Amino acid sequence: MTAQGTAKDALFAHDAGTAALDQVMMRLHWDQETVMPRGAADQRAEEIAALETVIHARRMDPRLADWLAEAEPADAAEAARIRWIAEDHGRAVRLPADLAAELARMSSLGQGRWVEARKAEDVAGFLPVLERIVALQREAGAAMAAGGDAYDALLAGYEPDITAAEIAEIFGRMRPRLVDLKDRVLASGRQVAELKGPFDTAAQLALTARVAQRFGYDMDHGRIDLAVHPFSSGSGADVRITTRVDEADPLGCLYSTIHETGHAAYEQHVDPAYRLTRLGKGVSMGVHESQSRIYENQLGRGRAFCGWLFGEMQTEFGDIGVPDADAFYAAVNRVHRGFIRTESDELHYNLHIMMRFDLERALIAGDLAVGDLEAAWNDRFEADFGVPVPAPSKGMLQDVHWSAGLFGYFPTYSLGNVYAGCLFAAMKADLPGLEGELASGDLGPATAWLAEKVQRHGASKRPRTVIEEATGTGVTEGPLLDYLEAKFGALYGV
Ligand code: ZN
Repeated sequence: MTAQGTAKDALFAHDAGTAALDQVMMRLHWDQETVMPRGAADQRAEEIAALETVIHARRMDPRLADWLAEAEPADAAEAARIRWIAEDHGRAVRLPADLAAELARMSSLGQGRWVEARKAEDVAGFLPVLERIVALQREAGAAMAAGGDAYDALLAGYEPDITAAEIAEIFGRMRPRLVDLKDRVLASGRQVAELKGPFDTAAQLALTARVAQRFGYDMDHGRIDLAVHPFSSGSGADVRITTRVDEADPLGCLYSTIHETGHAAYEQHVDPAYRLTRLGKGVSMGVHESQSRIYENQLGRGRAFCGWLFGEMQTEFGDIGVPDADAFYAAVNRVHRGFIRTESDELHYNLHIMMRFDLERALIAGDLAVGDLEAAWNDRFEADFGVPVPAPSKGMLQDVHWSAGLFGYFPTYSLGNVYAGCLFAAMKADLPGLEGELASGDLGPATAWLAEKVQRHGASKRPRTVIEEATGTGVTEGPLLDYLEAKFGALYGV
C-alpha cells in the first residue's frame, strides 16, 4: 500500500468512527425526548457532554491535517467527502477550545432559562443569558470567519455556500409578492369551515402511521413515538420520528408527521454506500427542509392528495365537520393571522422567517442591542402581521433557537421553501400523471422522484448543486411564488 493510500484509508476510517459517534449522539437525544426516565436528566446531560467532548476532539485531531494534505480522491464522491472533513476540521480548529466549551455550556443553560422565561412571560429574566449567548456567537462567528463575515460563518454551519447577502436578495424579491398575496387573501373575507371532532388519539396515530408509510417512511428502519416536539433523528438504517396528538385538532399530528417523514425519508434514502461516512446524511438544513416542506405542503396539502385524505378521515373518524373534499382542502390550507411561526400557514410562514433573519443579523452585527430586541420584535411583527404581540411567549420567546445558540439557522427554513418550489415545478414537468396518482393516495412516483433526484446523493454533492441538477435550473424564488399565488388565489378567489 502506498503512503498516499494509507493517508486516505486513515482519514476515512477516522471519519467513519466520527460518523458512527454522531449517530450515537442522536440516539441519546432521541431517548431523552421519548422514553428516558424523568429522574435521569442530570446523568444524561453528563453522558451527552462526555460524548460531545470525544466527538469534538476527533474533529480537532491534529493528524487530520496531515492525512488531508496527502489524501488523493479516486472519484467525485471521495473528493466531496475529503472537502467536508476538511471544512469540519477547519471550523473546529478555528474555534478556541475554551470558547467551544463555553458555547456548549451556555446553550444548555440557555434552553433551561428560556423554558422558565417563556412560562413566566419573563423577558427581563432571560435577557442576561441571551446577552451572553449573543456575545459568544459573535465571537465564534468571527473566529470561524477568519477575517470574513461573522454571520456568514455561523450560517455556513447550517447552509454552506450561500451568504446572508444572497439570502437577503432572495427574501427582498419574495417579500412584495408574498405581502400582496397575503393582504388580498385576508381582505377577501372568505370564511373557511374548521374540522369538528373529537378525534380519538389511537385512531389519529393509526392513520398517521399509515400516511407516513404512504409517503415512503420505512418502518423496518424507523419508528414513530410521542414527544413534546415533533422531530426526526438519525441517518441510514435507523431514522426515527416523533409526533404529538391533540384530540381537538387532527391536522397537527398528521401534517407534522408528514413533515418529519420528509426529513426521515431523505435520511433513509441516502445511498447505502455512504452509510456511516460524512456523506451519509442530508447535505444542508435548507435542502433538508425542502424535503419536509414538499412532502408536507406541495404534496400533502395539495388538492389532489387532500381528496384522498378526506376519505380516509371519514373512514377513521366519521363526520369530521366539513361536508366535502373541497371544504377539507380549504380547512387544511386556512390562512389566518397568527403569532406562532410553527402554526402559521404557507403565506405567513416566510414572513416569520424574514423577520427573525433580519433581527438576528442585526444582533450579530452589533446593530441591535439585546436589550432592544423585544421592542424591535414587537414593532416589526405589528408592521408585518397587522396585530400587536400580546405576550412574550407569542413574541420573541416563542422559539428555542436563540436560547440554544442557533444563530444562522432560521433562514434555512425559507430557503427550504424556495428549494421545494423549484423541485415541485420540475417534478410536475417530469411526472405528467402526478395529480391523478396523488388523488388516489399514491405518493410512490413523487417520492421516488425525490429519492432519485435529491435524497440518494446525501452530502456527495454541494447543496446548490443538488437542487440545480435536480431541477435543471438555478435556485430562484419564482416557482415558489407562482405556486403560492396559483394555490391561494384559487382557494380565496383573489
Ligand atoms: Zn423541518
